[in-house]
Amino acid sequence: MTKTWNDRYEELMARVEERNPGEPEFHQAVRGVLGDVFGAITEEDQRSEYMRLGVFERLVEPDRQISFRVAWQDDDGQVRVNRAHRVQFNNSLGPYKGGLRFAPSVNPSVLKFLGFEQTFKNALTGLPMGGAKGGADLDPKGLSDDEMMRFCQALMAELHRHIGENVDVPAGDIGVSEREISFLFGQYKRIRNRFTGILTGKGLSFGGSAGRVEATGYGAAYFVEEMLSQAGEEIEGKRCAISGAGNVSIYCAEKLIELGGTVVTLSDSDGTIHDPDGIDESKLAWVKRLKLKRKGRISEYADEYGDSEYLEGETPWAVECDLAFPCATQNELGREDAEKLVANDCLAVVEGANMPIDDDAMELFRSEGVLIGPAKAANAGGVAVSGLEQSQNAQHMYWQPEEVDRQLREIMSRIHLECVERGGGEDAERIDYVRGANLASFHRVSQAMVAYGAV
Ligand code: GLU
Repeated sequence: MTKTWNDRYEELMARVEERNPGEPEFHQAVRGVLGDVFGAITEEDQRSEYMRLGVFERLVEPDRQISFRVAWQDDDGQVRVNRAHRVQFNNSLGPYKGGLRFAPSVNPSVLKFLGFEQTFKNALTGLPMGGAKGGADLDPKGLSDDEMMRFCQALMAELHRHIGENVDVPAGDIGVSEREISFLFGQYKRIRNRFTGILTGKGLSFGGSAGRVEATGYGAAYFVEEMLSQAGEEIEGKRCAISGAGNVSIYCAEKLIELGGTVVTLSDSDGTIHDPDGIDESKLAWVKRLKLKRKGRISEYADEYGDSEYLEGETPWAVECDLAFPCATQNELGREDAEKLVANDCLAVVEGANMPIDDDAMELFRSEGVLIGPAKAANAGGVAVSGLEQSQNAQHMYWQPEEVDRQLREIMSRIHLECVERGGGEDAERIDYVRGANLASFHRVSQAMVAYGAV
C-alpha cells in the first residue's frame, strides 16, 4: 500500500519527537509548519520530490547548537554560573539571524522552537536572513546594571567565536534590550578590535537603526490594519486587548492608538490592568516610564488611574474586545482563554509574541473562523528592521526614521499579500493566515535547500 502524505507526516513527527525527547515547544512549532505543508502537497506536486531530497528531515535538524558555561561575579563577589546557547538553525537564505533571550525558562527546547520559527519568519520578510536563536537561563530580575554588564561580558567572551556580520547576527528578545546589546557589543569590540554589525538593536549612536525599538509592535499593528482592510474592516473604534507590557506590547499599543483603536488592557506576569476608557497617549507615556525605565509592576497603573481596575493573577482575555494581541510569551493563551474570546465575538487574534497561542486554542480559533495573525507574519517587523540595520551597517550609513518606517510598512504589506495568496486567495471568504504564512515561508526556504543539494 502506498503511503499517504498524512502517513509520511505522522512518521516524520514521530521521528522528530523521538530524536528530540522532552522538547514539547519544539515539537509544537514543527507540527505547526509541517502540518500545513504536508496538507498542501499533492502527488503531482514538485514537492513530492522533497521526500527523496530529505528537505523535511534537514529542515527539522538545526545546522548547529552551541552550549556553554557563563561564569560571572555578582555584586557580592559571589561567582554565579549560567548556561547559554546559540542554536544556528538554518542559513539557507542568509547569515543566521535571531534574538538572544535571558529568562529562567530558557532551555534547548524553547530555543529550538524559536530558531525554527525564526527561519520561516525571516524568510517571509524577503530579506537575506537565515534563522537562529540564543540566550541564557538567567533571571534578570533584580540584577544591578553592573551585574548585567559582567554577565554580558562573560557571555560574549565565548559567543564572539560563533558570530559575525556574514555568519550570525544576534539581537534582543525577552530580557535583552538596548542595555544588554550595548554591553555585548562593547565586549565584542574589545575582544575582536572590530566595529561592525555583529548585533542589531544597537544604540542609535553606534550603528543602531532608527525605529528598531518600535518595529515589532508597529509591525504587528500594520499587519492587523492590512488584515482588517482585507476583511472590509478598520482599526478605528476597535477595542484592543493586549497582553504584556514590554517593548512589543507598548509599541503595538502606541500604533493602535494612533490608528484609532481603543487599547483596554496591558499585563505582566502578576496580573492585568483593564482601562475601559482606553489607554491614551499620555497614559502610555506613563507606562513606558514605569515598565521600560523604572521596571515597575503593571499593578501601579490602577493606583495612578482611578477609573481602571487591576485584575490580579488574571490574563486579559476575559475582557471584551474586538482585537486580541498576545504579546507576552509562548503558550500564554490557552483553550479557556480562547473560549472567552470566541464568546465575546473577538474578530482577530494577532500574535505579537512568538507562538503565544497554544495548540488547543489555535484549533478552536481556526474552527470558529476567528482571524489569526500568526507570529511569523505579524511580529516579523522587529527582525525586518534588524535586517534594515544590517543594510545600514554594511553601507556605513544611517537612514532617516521616515525611510525605515516606510520600508517596514512596505515589508509588512508584502508579507500580508503573500499570506493572502497562499491562505485562500484574494476572493476567499476568510483568509487562513496561519496556513498562508507557513506555505509562503516554507516555499522560500525549501527552494533554496533543494538548489543546494544534499547539504
Ligand atoms: N527576537 C526578535 C524576534 O523574535 C527579533 C530578532 C532579531 O531582530 O534578530 O523576531
